[in-house]
Amino acid sequence: MSDCLFCKIIDGQIPSLKVYEDDHVFAFMDIMPLTKGHTLLIPKTHCKDLFEMPEDVARNLYAAAPKVANAIKSAFNPIGMNTINNNGAEAGQTVFHYHLHLVPRYDDADGLRVEWNHRQAEFPTDVLTDVATAIKANLLP
Ligand code: AMP
Ligand code: ZN
Repeated sequence: MSDCLFCKIIDGQIPSLKVYEDDHVFAFMDIMPLTKGHTLLIPKTHCKDLFEMPEDVARNLYAAAPKVANAIKSAFNPIGMNTINNNGAEAGQTVFHYHLHLVPRYDDADGLRVEWNHRQAEFPTDVLTDVATAIKANLLP
């Protein structure tokens, strides 16, 4: 897509620090890293977000994810890694070409805070069953 930042990175119009590339994906250093080794993995096919990602693009993207994740792990020996993908401005997406953040973790003082505020009380089994039913009813073949 001609006005897409990450498409321009893929075709070299905008410089990046590439760490991996194959026929389907491109991985490069996030310019504002949360931690040492924070890498973005993107499909070469432009898709705005997960919702509009074709199955083959998803398959090829995730096929490369362990390779890049393990390279980060071998390079820096993190204690863990979060993979994050923001879909939609309200969910924190700022670049509208799908990207998977690979964020290695080091300690409590690194650059990522993840807070899970569980709300089990709002989702007893009967409610959760209805939620599951609604999702299943909307699965496309
Ligand atoms: P998100 O907020 O999930 O859409 O993430 C977008 C990410 O792209 C941010 O973490 C930015 O730091 C990163 N980013 C933006 N521009 C560039 C660039 N030119 N090169 C590398 N990373 C970038
Ligand atoms: Zn793009």
